[in-house]
Amino acid sequence: MNIAIVGTGYVGLVSGTCFSEMGINVTCVDVDEKKIENLKKGVISIYEPGLEDMVRKNIQAGRLNFTTDLADVLDDVEIVFSAVGTPPDEDGSADLKYVLAVAKAIGENIKKYTVVVTKSTVPVGTAKKVKETIQAELDKRGENVKFDVASNPEFLKEGAAIKDFMSPDRVVVGIESEKAKEKMSRLYKPFMLVSDRLIFTDIPSAEMIKYAANSMLATRISFMNDIANLCELVGADVNMVRKGIGTDTRIGKKFLYAGCGYGGSCFPKDVKALIKTAQKVGYDMEVLQAVESVNEKQKSILFNKLMKHFNGDINGKTIAIWGLAFKPETDDMREAPALVLIDKIISAGASVKVYDPIAMPECKRRIGDKVVYCKDMYEAVVDVDTLLLVTEWKEFRMPSLEVLNKTMKNKVIIDGRNIYDAKEMVESGFDYYKIG
Ligand code: NAD
Repeated sequence: MNIAIVGTGYVGLVSGTCFSEMGINVTCVDVDEKKIENLKKGVISIYEPGLEDMVRKNIQAGRLNFTTDLADVLDDVEIVFSAVGTPPDEDGSADLKYVLAVAKAIGENIKKYTVVVTKSTVPVGTAKKVKETIQAELDKRGENVKFDVASNPEFLKEGAAIKDFMSPDRVVVGIESEKAKEKMSRLYKPFMLVSDRLIFTDIPSAEMIKYAANSMLATRISFMNDIANLCELVGADVNMVRKGIGTDTRIGKKFLYAGCGYGGSCFPKDVKALIKTAQKVGYDMEVLQAVESVNEKQKSILFNKLMKHFNGDINGKTIAIWGLAFKPETDDMREAPALVLIDKIISAGASVKVYDPIAMPECKRRIGDKVVYCKDMYEAVVDVDTLLLVTEWKEFRMPSLEVLNKTMKNKVIIDGRNIYDAKEMVESGFDYYKIG
């Protein structure tokens, strides 16, 4: 089977590579010429564990190709995916300009029956717009080419994207024709050999499922952050509370970790976009509005704890930050809490030293030399007044307290991910603060 994937970012590149790993012939298309040139040589521009090796292997096998020319590949494919970005518009709605640009290009160029699948996260009603855009181009050309649209939202997690794609919990496909259903079933068959987790729905439901899933996960995080903040005020420990509720099978253990707010390319924009979708039809998503406002407050929590420790004055202090990416195992810094924190600390007159195993080039690309980039986690804490743990990379989980004790000027640790043992920290002479 031959397919094309338009957009070779975190989702498009992983999807295309994993499809090719299953023996499908994939051509990945992007407008970014430099990205495509590098990909042709097997060089990827994002950090995703295992991805580069898999890209190279499938290029060598001749199943994975890269191009900037969409028109050129459309003749040879049965299915074309759109996996371009859907960033927030000025008012928080999903901006569909890339999705509709792809639809237009498809309409300008298809010559035979094709299933056009949206993999990007898009509001309910987008497939209809994609269909109208393609049809309008066909009408302009005076061509009577049949096509179907489908919605196949992606649930992969950055950092574990290959595993998520190769062994998905479920694959949701919204369809409106038997022919599209048959093609999508055939495409996903290699992924369903162990158990069939392919769920077919109507298209609006598939589009909604993605937003509902991300909004539910964001809700759990904000809920636990709210509980954590209350725990601090009443003398309870949120880690114990988490264990106590997570063992309830109706609740489950995942996504119950208090921290310094959710970030990344998906939760913030998808929660905002769903609130906007509801507003447009005259409905108030009251729970999600609260989820968002708790998250906004939570992004300042480490800074507030830092200021409180130094009685509101950190002017002239040096602060170390461990972890910049919005979560471990990725270099993605979109909406990363570390960015908010760095800005606030610098505005308050302190300087910042940072270390992240992977995301430092991305941080430098975004904020330049506003901070000092260190070669390892221990260099970052030399002579600092406070260490802030922001991203829970594995290498930060058991630091040498002896080294920290010797090298830090002030022994203050603020743990934004609750990964350290409070008793051990206090016994080792640190002023230790956690969330909740
Ligand atoms: P990204 O920004 O990493 O990649 C988008 C790519 O599309 C870029 O390479 C860009 O050059 C390319 N592009 C833009 N316009 C194009 C056009 N007209 N033709 C060809 N290529 C074009 O985005 P991403 O993180 O991969 O996200 C893509 C979509 O998937 C979004 O809707 C996102 O919400 C959704 N999603 C993302 C994740 C994730 O973890 N990143 C997970 C699930 C779903």
